[in-house]
Amino acid sequence: MITEDIKRKELFLLDLDGTLYIENHLIKGSTEFIELLKKQNKKFILLTNNSSKSSNKHLEKINNLGIDAKKENIFTSAQATSIYLKNIKEKAKIYVVGTESLKDELRNQGFIICENAKEDIDFLIIGFDIELNYKKIEDACYLLDKGVEYIATNPDLVCPIENGRFIPDCGSICNMLKTATNREPKFIGKPRREMIDIISKMENIPLDKIAIVGDRLYTDIACGINAGITSICVLSGESSKEDIEKSIYKPTYVVDSINDIYEILK
Ligand SMILES: [Mg+2]
Repeated sequence: MITEDIKRKELFLLDLDGTLYIENHLIKGSTEFIELLKKQNKKFILLTNNSSKSSNKHLEKINNLGIDAKKENIFTSAQATSIYLKNIKEKAKIYVVGTESLKDELRNQGFIICENAKEDIDFLIIGFDIELNYKKIEDACYLLDKGVEYIATNPDLVCPIENGRFIPDCGSICNMLKTATNREPKFIGKPRREMIDIISKMENIPLDKIAIVGDRLYTDIACGINAGITSICVLSGESSKEDIEKSIYKPTYVVDSINDIYEILK
């Protein structure tokens, strides 16, 4: 029974693009849902694979859209990548095919960002690079050919923008590099269950009290399935009912939008 199950949850992991908003347009019920969670003493974490913005920039956008969230309410694939890298080598020298925001985020975590691919690079990092240029692609190919360790922040192929349009995301950039070099990265971000395990530990909330809400089957819903938690697919983003029927990733529940979850909890 969806109502009872949802009411039992103490922590909601919420996707951003296609779930709470599309580009600069808030999806109905988003703010009301967040406010209701606070009133009911439930927690929420905005869990996004979008590595084109730093967590501060995400927060700024979310706050400007009218959602009252704080730094501790956001966890991005860039943060997850940083945790992953630190576990292998602190202060590593990295080459980033990513935005200046992503570089800032990694720099703030003590990594040395190299602009020259000829330096002694420890890791090549690919993100959702909306500032991509040919020099970066050329440098990435050089590093991949040299055998440098290869990490990507997220496997998403596209990111939704206004009017049903979409633009290439990190996964598509990696596909181009695979065609050129035959190398594939280790992807961080959703659908890796570590994204949820880290949060469950951080917040001290068991997995059966956590639900993930998102619009993308191969990231959001797959992440929920991988971690063994309740997953809710919203139809406000990229997936349709037909997509869900055809997919191997079956969400626990399907609703039209975040507004439906708000109505259930109310
Ligand atoms: Mg999404």
